[in-house]
Amino acid sequence: MAFHGIRLRATGSQALLARRFGDGHFPMYSGFASSRGALMEDAGSRTDRRNMSQGDWRNLPDPDPTIAPRLIEWFDNNGRSFPWRRPISAYHLLSVELMLQRTHADQVRPVFEGFCEKFASPRDVLSAGRGVVDAMFRRLGLLWRAEMFWKLQIALVQDHAGEIPRSDRELRSLPGVGDYVATAVRVFAFGERLTVLDSNVLRILGRYFGITFPDHARRSRRVRSWADRLAPEDPDACRRYNWALIDLGALICTPRTPRHFSCPIRVGCRLASEPGGPLSNGTSWGQGAAYGKGFSEES
Ligand code: SF4
Repeated sequence: MAFHGIRLRATGSQALLARRFGDGHFPMYSGFASSRGALMEDAGSRTDRRNMSQGDWRNLPDPDPTIAPRLIEWFDNNGRSFPWRRPISAYHLLSVELMLQRTHADQVRPVFEGFCEKFASPRDVLSAGRGVVDAMFRRLGLLWRAEMFWKLQIALVQDHAGEIPRSDRELRSLPGVGDYVATAVRVFAFGERLTVLDSNVLRILGRYFGITFPDHARRSRRVRSWADRLAPEDPDACRRYNWALIDLGALICTPRTPRHFSCPIRVGCRLASEPGGPLSNGTSWGQGAAYGKGFSEES
């Protein structure tokens, strides 16, 4: 699999932006660390509702074709590096997605690397015995999930000959696999054109398009197919687009202190450019107290 086979040219995305937004202005980027975002219903979301015209999430706008190239370009320069972002098997990809659920990535990294060294398939895990799975999930602080992971190995061997199924229905029928993990496997392992939608990604898209999504919107078939239309067709580009969304939600478009001035999609973002927002022309930054925390100093 060529994960980094395509680099979109900056001039191409700039030209697209210039056509869309008129002035050809292009944002400056920077990378820095921050904690991963939490839920939509927090202080940041309340700020969003105060400052942004409310769009109706049931009346979705046309997807913006400039979002993906800008995100990919930013990811290529600022994205985080994790072992699961290198070419790995579908089995390892599914396993790490389950480890990452409600767990910090840095905690998962050493556990996942040890897992890959020892196990290449669900049969290997079943041969090693349940104690190995318990020990692994105890290290992650997720011992209660060991049972589910063990049942997953059994289901993969008994029902799928040890292979990872490709269809959404079959993936979601596996123990512990819900909408998010099934979509992540389809994108990152099988190269499908989808947007991996969680609360953080929904927050970014809601801010960009000026829509307050209820959290349950990520399970809406219509919202998911709308978000999928934002994804690039090329499988490698689609993976990097999705990793970019994950990193943007963790590093820049955070729930409480979005760092608009470092954001690769700040041009065209409704939340940032609304009157009183940080990118609106001539603003007195009258609502800046709500926005101000965490601004970078780029201009
Ligand atoms: S400009 Fe600000 S609100 Fe808009 S997507 Fe970027 S960080 Fe989020």
